[in-house]
Amino acid sequence: MDANINKRNELLAQTVIKGLNSRNMTGYYAANKEEALKLALELIPEKSSVTMGGAKSAHEIGLVDALKKGDYNFIDRDAYEDKRAAMLAAYDADVFLSSSNAITNDGILVNIDGNSNRVSAIAQGPRKVVFIVGMNKVCGDLDGAMKRARNVAAPINAQRFGLSTPCAKTGACMDCKSPDTICCQFLITRYSRHKDRIHVILVNDNLGY
Ligand code: SF4
Repeated sequence: MDANINKRNELLAQTVIKGLNSRNMTGYYAANKEEALKLALELIPEKSSVTMGGAKSAHEIGLVDALKKGDYNFIDRDAYEDKRAAMLAAYDADVFLSSSNAITNDGILVNIDGNSNRVSAIAQGPRKVVFIVGMNKVCGDLDGAMKRARNVAAPINAQRFGLSTPCAKTGACMDCKSPDTICCQFLITRYSRHKDRIHVILVNDNLGY
């Protein structure tokens, strides 16, 4: 990546980390995907039970492969026929992996969900939540983060899952009430009651949507 972009991202990440710390959450900056993988594995002790909620960014840094190959109890929800059982197992996991649809530069995380298993596990249940977040997800304020979630992340996800929503056809949010909508729940994580539960690795790269 261009040296000027690297510098800006590093500075911006420090601002976001300061915001996260003020909200009882912990932030880290990774200069590249390899550093992000190393940081994530330092946060996940061997033998931990680990699950995830559609974290494309975790795949992109090689974390999911590393966990599947390593000495971890990786709970693969795709392997469960009973999806409810997979969701209940996630609530009791040691670590939940997620990306974020957006994050503000003062450390507020914004996530939207259709089934809502991801946002509910972020809110409570798993003992630790590790977010992998590309610097492309950082927005100036909460309004910008909500707009990003609804006008960038949601239309792309609706398209890739073949959902019949207006945004899948137009690329922009139409505030639908379609049966396929993925905007059933909006989770704004502005503070963590439990210290050392939420960890956010900001990666100097474009990850996820
Ligand atoms: S509310 Fe509907 S149109 Fe808007 S982003 Fe969500 S699914 Fe798409």
